[in-house]
Amino acid sequence: MKILVLNSGSSSLKFQLFDMSKQQMLTSGLLEQVTDHQQAIASMEEMLSNSGCLKSVSELDGIGHRVVHGGEDFHDPVLINDQVLDAIEKLIPLAPLHNPANLTGIKIARMRAPDVPQVAVFDTSFHQNIPEQAYIYALPYTLYEKYKVRRYGFHGTSHRYVAQQAADYMAKKWGKNPAELKLISLHLGNGTSAAAIENGQSIDTSMGMTPLEGLVMGTRCGDIDPAIPFYLARETGMSIQELDDLLNKQSGLKGICEENDMRTIVQLAEQGDYRSELAINIFCYRIKKYIGAYMAALNGIDAIIFTGGIGENSSLIRERACANLQYLGIEINTEKNRQHCRKIQEIQNDSSRIKILVIPTNEELEIAMQSAHIVTNMRGNI
Ligand code: ADP
Repeated sequence: MKILVLNSGSSSLKFQLFDMSKQQMLTSGLLEQVTDHQQAIASMEEMLSNSGCLKSVSELDGIGHRVVHGGEDFHDPVLINDQVLDAIEKLIPLAPLHNPANLTGIKIARMRAPDVPQVAVFDTSFHQNIPEQAYIYALPYTLYEKYKVRRYGFHGTSHRYVAQQAADYMAKKWGKNPAELKLISLHLGNGTSAAAIENGQSIDTSMGMTPLEGLVMGTRCGDIDPAIPFYLARETGMSIQELDDLLNKQSGLKGICEENDMRTIVQLAEQGDYRSELAINIFCYRIKKYIGAYMAALNGIDAIIFTGGIGENSSLIRERACANLQYLGIEINTEKNRQHCRKIQEIQNDSSRIKILVIPTNEELEIAMQSAHIVTNMRGNI
């Protein structure tokens, strides 16, 4: 079974082709500075055919599309039809930057491969079962009813994937029953989020109605006092658009130290740059606070998972985020933490009550697996 995974962004197109019989990636590509998605998909088809892995997209068994916002409509991945497209279109106000580009990709792929089943996998759907107390904001309830103002959460595909990997690993290694497993997953990339996971289900997450809430990110502020934008508007005359840009694109690590790439920030801090050191400390302190909050929400945890570009690669960030948490049973092992490997790695001390795992995420493989599952069910129903 061959599944193509497409991530159609506003200025880029990422693709990966999988052979699902071996869960193996056959080829992949990234097209950047995309202005014409039709042209980008034509280039992708050419790259696929040149790779020798696929003569034509009509040979595919399925195409899995990453869609950022599924609102309250989508609790699971779905087979795409006209109604699904309409529903994704209606969700554009909730994700004005992402959903339109995702939709364009889907529409072109449907035209290019009309007989190939296409599946939408939403970044939000893993969090759709979190309880009301975690997703309703303390705002007038009518705003939820009328405008669907609530927490949705994102990075769901990644949190789901690493939680499943952790469950398989801990069942094998420690005989842990996956149904009793409590986890905190920390996805630390350009965007960052935490999720509290029980029995494979998300019960809370740090991103909110949009990806702006929660942890400190590359260029997003995460949690701040909601009155700050009002104050700035009054004092500086900034417009809504300018404030949106400020909080989403000029804040976070970049706002604090003028850099948003964690590798550069770590290097600068090592050279004694004060603001880079401060940015790292603020970033890690916020993570720590979420670890504490989710340990309370879950009434204890079995493991913390680090994933994403920073989570998988930065021993310094893992060390600082877990420092001085012995009281909570979290003790990182400095030696193990510094060893780098591409597989699941345990980095806690033997005496640590809570396991600390580094798990490489694979959102594309997760989308491929979800899509393959839907295509197989569809075939069974014919
Ligand atoms: P995205 O969220 O766009 O998928 P990634 O998950 O690839 O991004 O994460 C990108 C982040 O990971 C960048 O801030 C990058 O600097 C950071 N990163 C990658 N490798 C390292 C490393 N060895 N040390 C520190 N940060 C790293």
